[in-house]
Amino acid sequence: MNRNEIVEHLASKGVKPTANRILVLKALHEANRPMSLKALEMKLLSMDKSSIFRVLTLFLEHEVVHSFEDGRGLLNYELCGHHGPCKHDENHIHFYCEICQRSFCLEDAQMQDVQLPEGFEAHAMSFVIKGVCAECKAK
Ligand SMILES: [Zn+2]
Ligand SMILES: [Zn+2]
Ligand SMILES: [Zn+2]
Repeated sequence: MNRNEIVEHLASKGVKPTANRILVLKALHEANRPMSLKALEMKLLSMDKSSIFRVLTLFLEHEVVHSFEDGRGLLNYELCGHHGPCKHDENHIHFYCEICQRSFCLEDAQMQDVQLPEGFEAHAMSFVIKGVCAECKAK
């Protein structure tokens, strides 16, 4: 994504492009996998933690990103796969590596629809497999 594409993508989500917002989106796009606040902090050394957190909170509200708890119970953030409004059809399983502490999207592993009890309404699903990623396993 170049700068124009980022600005256009933010606009499609109803978010005004500020310098910080562009930086956070770019970092998540480059990583190409979910990141924790801590991981973003280490990548965006020019930004302080509270600024990054403010951008992420706004991104969550506008569904520029989605969050889920990784194998440690820490929130991870990943980009919404939709340009414009989110269609909420991106449920997939995540893999958490206990060695490098990174999360991976298993896009091909779609979650089954779960039959909920009468009167219950689901808003999000999260499923995390913990283990060792291929890179760490090969070491
Ligand atoms: Zn989405
Ligand atoms: Zn690993
Ligand atoms: Zn994912």
